[in-house]
Amino acid sequence: MIYNEEFETLPREVLEALQLKRLRQVMERVYHTVGLYRKSFDEAGVSPEDLTSLNDLHRFPFTTKGDLRDNYPFGLFAVPMSNIVRLHASSGTTGKSTVVAYTRRDIETWSELMARCFVAAGLTRNDIIHNAYGYGLFTGGLGAHYGAEKMGASVIPMSGGNTKRQITILQDFGPTAICCTPSYALTLAEAGAEIGVDMRALKLRVGILGAEPWSEQMRSEIEDKLDITALNIYGLSEVIGPGVSMECIEGRNGMHIFEDHFIVETIDPDTGAVLPPGEAGELVFTTITKEAFPLIRYRTRDISRIMTEPCRCGRNFFRMERVSGRSDDMLIIRGVNVFPSQIESILMAIEGLEPHYQLIVERTGTLDTLTIKVEVSDKIFSDEVRMLQGLERRISKDIKDYLGVTAAVRLVEPKSLQRFEGKAERVVDKRRS
Ligand code: ADP
Ligand code: ZN
Repeated sequence: MIYNEEFETLPREVLEALQLKRLRQVMERVYHTVGLYRKSFDEAGVSPEDLTSLNDLHRFPFTTKGDLRDNYPFGLFAVPMSNIVRLHASSGTTGKSTVVAYTRRDIETWSELMARCFVAAGLTRNDIIHNAYGYGLFTGGLGAHYGAEKMGASVIPMSGGNTKRQITILQDFGPTAICCTPSYALTLAEAGAEIGVDMRALKLRVGILGAEPWSEQMRSEIEDKLDITALNIYGLSEVIGPGVSMECIEGRNGMHIFEDHFIVETIDPDTGAVLPPGEAGELVFTTITKEAFPLIRYRTRDISRIMTEPCRCGRNFFRMERVSGRSDDMLIIRGVNVFPSQIESILMAIEGLEPHYQLIVERTGTLDTLTIKVEVSDKIFSDEVRMLQGLERRISKDIKDYLGVTAAVRLVEPKSLQRFEGKAERVVDKRRS
């Protein structure tokens, strides 16, 4: 099923013509209303009239998180406050939070995009959606909420936290879908099992999971523990919030980007050079319909790859591969670059390990060292020390063989590492403190 059949299946040429038209309008508008863009376009010697094809977008300067911070809180808004009906702020995972704004029409757009996501997940108005994304300044909660209502499903506005109560509601209200971070899906599964609830017997059918990087192996783990289909959803507050792209249940491979509202590019994060589709790089988004907070060529720092192959669901929007990590989460251990999600993939492929891990980076002298703490199952934990040491060595070897980094592995007791309600924090970087 497709929520907005007309737009989601536009032939590429028609879609690209629409993108160009919308792009020119937004460029005109930001040039005249937002100081930063007037200045940066002038400095780069480009003006909105230069846009005769979509390729001309590459000539315009990037916008960065730094620009957002420099204009904190309201400096990049393109409409007066009287036209703004909502403010949100990013969770500030990597520094001071950034503030974003919506007009009434922006809220409409966003709700429609989230409605599209739910329909892409195979949901209908007969579904009950348990929304465990945090409500508040974070865009996750309200974004999913409005989309669920727009689509006509029944929404349970749980928000994050209070895990025991969440489990009671899951049992009593019988929601068929859940929205939360992948790490919280696991937290719920585990907490339920602990109090003797058969989490696989719940009515839940689908998980719409995102807001943090996760691996294919983590997907299998969640699907198994909750007996659901787990789908990936991507978004960031700067661009609109959740609902920038969504995996369809038919394809379950890569997230369709809602290209009638966003233009996506991938760039080499070091040089800024635009990469051809199919090559992994940093995602850059331009919003072409947003009114209050349009963004031109915004560098997300998220690393992914654009997939142009057709999808069996019938949507014509290109897909993006699951985000392997943020460039600022990338660990550089003795010159080798590695993302936490790559380590996760390797750990999850090893029997007896639980999907709970922590990466500790330290500096001893001039050398960076990586220690991986990972929980083992009860069964393994009661094994002999010798067995455990053997397993640690085997994991170290796998990490070295696949990723080229040397890591000390420490198997820890089940349930000894921290659990998360929102975005998981896997890395403890002691070099910064
Ligand atoms: P913050 O930047 O403070 O975390 P947001 O809440 O807007 O603020 O988070 C957006 C970021 O979350 C994205 O830039 C991306 O790094 C991450 N993210 C969101 N969805 C996904 C996903 N499905 N997979 C991987 N990372 C994701
Ligand atoms: Zn599809």
